[in-house]
Amino acid sequence: MSMETSDALNESMRGIRARKDRDANPDEPIRVWVDEDRSPEGRGKSLTIVFNTDGCRWARAGGCTMCGYVGESNKGAVDADSMLTQLDKALEHERDEGVECENVKMYTSGTFFDRREIPPEARHEILDTFSDRRVVVETLPDFVEDDVIQDAVERVRKLCIAVGLETADDHVRRECVNKYFEFDEFVRAANVAHDHGATVKAYLLMKPPFLTESEAIEDAVYSVRKSAEHADLVSVNPCNVQRYTLVDRLHYRDGYRPPWLWSVVEVLQRTQDAPAVVVSRPVGSGGDRGAHNCGECDDDVYDAVTAYSLTGDADVLERPDCGCKKKWRAVLERETAWRAPLG
Ligand code: SF4
Ligand SMILES: [Zn+2]
Repeated sequence: MSMETSDALNESMRGIRARKDRDANPDEPIRVWVDEDRSPEGRGKSLTIVFNTDGCRWARAGGCTMCGYVGESNKGAVDADSMLTQLDKALEHERDEGVECENVKMYTSGTFFDRREIPPEARHEILDTFSDRRVVVETLPDFVEDDVIQDAVERVRKLCIAVGLETADDHVRRECVNKYFEFDEFVRAANVAHDHGATVKAYLLMKPPFLTESEAIEDAVYSVRKSAEHADLVSVNPCNVQRYTLVDRLHYRDGYRPPWLWSVVEVLQRTQDAPAVVVSRPVGSGGDRGAHNCGECDDDVYDAVTAYSLTGDADVLERPDCGCKKKWRAVLERETAWRAPLG
């Protein structure tokens, strides 16, 4: 993509995001929850913490077309004390749930290893708190450096770095997602992580804007296969419509439809033999702003996708059926123009 296109996208998104004026409380995590998921080490309970930080630097420049995280992050820097107060609140939530999860997944609205988002002393204390657990932290690949990863690996039982790769296709990542790094940069980060004994999780964005339904399926299948050569776990995230994003604006003008759940099923079916654990948990599924089918079958298909993600048993994907599959097939065949969803 030319710089002009990137500049135009960034400018457009800065404008959209400027409408967000609410600020979050820096002493409260944005979200905390307990659920279950599967990793190469097996199935287990997970504590997920979304920390409130001042967010992703790229998002401030304009950022990715689907990412509403900037709408959740703090306007100013969050200091180490506030970060640790957020940690205490997350632990309190876990205690209230009556569990001690073997997995802890930590997100910021950006990068866990960015010292501007999380001061190093807070990062160290957070990791030390989970010294006997398996810890997943999200990071952009450029923050994955030998010394930072070695330090983190020594503080926890098992470290996994999660990278929002979105797609293995550099053109789609640049032109549809407006994300700045290339696949090679992801491979470099994955190699650093593996060299230090950490594992790697790749997040893929299924159906970024400007792709048809069938293009989105092919992009996701290709991306799962290609990223699985470098990642231990691949998570296929169907795009959902978040506020303060370009996707939201397109959706509002009937220029974007989140993927069909049948498409998610197809991607999972076609990537069963990929050399990594492949999972998907469609956010906002069934609603107009998340992956959905006709409304009648959405819960069944979502349950099948979730069951597959927890067990890897492909039989569960065969079970759901519905009359709307016909319409979905017609969409795959006939939708040819960008930004012209048919159903
Ligand atoms: S997806 Fe990641 S890199 Fe892109 S704007 Fe959001 S937080 Fe930043
Ligand atoms: Zn249906």
